[in-house]
Amino acid sequence: MKIVKKCLFFIVFMSMWLLPLQHIEVIAASEFEGNESQWLSKCSIPQDTEEQAQKCKEFKEYYSSISKDLENQVSDLNKQIAKITDNISELNAAVKKQDSLIEQITNKIKENENSIKKLNTEITSLEEQIKKLQKSIDERNNLIKGRMLDEQETLGTNISLEIIMGAKNLIDMIRNIDGLNRINEADKKEIELIKEEKEKQDLQKQEKSRLKESVEAAKADNEQQKKNAEEVKKQKEVLLTKFREQEEKLNEQMRSVEVNLATIKNNIINIDTRVKGSYNFSSSGRLSKPVNGSISAHSFFYPDGSLHLGLDIAVPLKTPIYAPANGIILYANNPVATNSGYIGNTSGYPAGAGNSIHMLTRVDGITYGLTFVHMAQEGFAVSAGQKVQAGQLLGLSGNTGNTSGPHCHLEVVNLGNMSIEKAIAQFQATADFAWGTGWYMTGYSNRCEVKGPPCREHPEDVYGY
Ligand SMILES: [Zn+2]
Repeated sequence: MKIVKKCLFFIVFMSMWLLPLQHIEVIAASEFEGNESQWLSKCSIPQDTEEQAQKCKEFKEYYSSISKDLENQVSDLNKQIAKITDNISELNAAVKKQDSLIEQITNKIKENENSIKKLNTEITSLEEQIKKLQKSIDERNNLIKGRMLDEQETLGTNISLEIIMGAKNLIDMIRNIDGLNRINEADKKEIELIKEEKEKQDLQKQEKSRLKESVEAAKADNEQQKKNAEEVKKQKEVLLTKFREQEEKLNEQMRSVEVNLATIKNNIINIDTRVKGSYNFSSSGRLSKPVNGSISAHSFFYPDGSLHLGLDIAVPLKTPIYAPANGIILYANNPVATNSGYIGNTSGYPAGAGNSIHMLTRVDGITYGLTFVHMAQEGFAVSAGQKVQAGQLLGLSGNTGNTSGPHCHLEVVNLGNMSIEKAIAQFQATADFAWGTGWYMTGYSNRCEVKGPPCREHPEDVYGY
């Protein structure tokens, strides 16, 4: 590896002498393009000659200029995310609207059902009344029939005898028949009245039945409407899920792209040049707690059940944060004011971190990437490339970036047995605090409970909170 590097230095060194001066810049640009990570690693150690140092300076300038592309990517992603956020809030509103529509229709169906129940009761009671009236009519009819039958029998058997026996009895008999007729007339009239009443009730029953049919039709109609509304809601929800997934993906892209670019590049280039000696800072035993305070949100969920890839320690502003073990600072940046955080704030790196530090350490043969975010601007005690001792002050806690109050958010990525040199090279190339474990649900799926390194540890386990 060393021989290859020296050969490369030699070629670069020789080419600077062999080529005319005006060509150097042109060649330099194309030379850097696509080979950024090689140049980053080449220029991250002290150079042997002035010329090589000059080349690295040129590379640094070139590297800063490509930050423009990244900035464009950031603004592009911002636009895409804003569009999707709009879509999501529109869809959310549409789903809510469907919900209230479904509720309205459900209430209508309930009303329909109540009406049907009431009508059924009324129809049943009308049917009973009609039955009673019919019974009454039948009884009276039978009574009249009976009376007439009796009389016929009397007349039939007695008529000749009565005639024979004389007029007195005959007149009485006729009088009796008249009386009987009058009784029957009264009954007949009453029957007519009952019949009228029955017809009235029949009509009412018909009316109620007709009403019931129309309510049942309305109910069927409403049930169809409800089904349609639920289908529309389902479609919107499917779309919403799609947009949410897109948003998550874009946010993930954003987190890897959106950076305080100038600072991060200086950080990256400075890492190795500022380190003298080896990375032999292995220690053993548990990492110590970086900050003293009580847990306000565990990993990997907030108390409300939403995803939280770190551990929150609630501490007053400007509480000291110490290195949990010997290690090297990979990133340290404090661009924002100590108490400037709020929910949704995307300042800092990674987006929303506010003022942040990322360091590497190695304990009992395992390499860890340690993240400290939402820090104070004042009292920032370290910079990228600096080696630190366990217990050394890193900085103070703050309320910066995406926060709801002062606290220290800690994340720990287990890198397994990856060497410090390899880890530094990887960080120089990616600036990824997550070390490829990703963010959001991807980050959660890469927890050490379910898979090997690189994976996300519960900081409470690693630090012993
Ligand atoms: Zn947190």
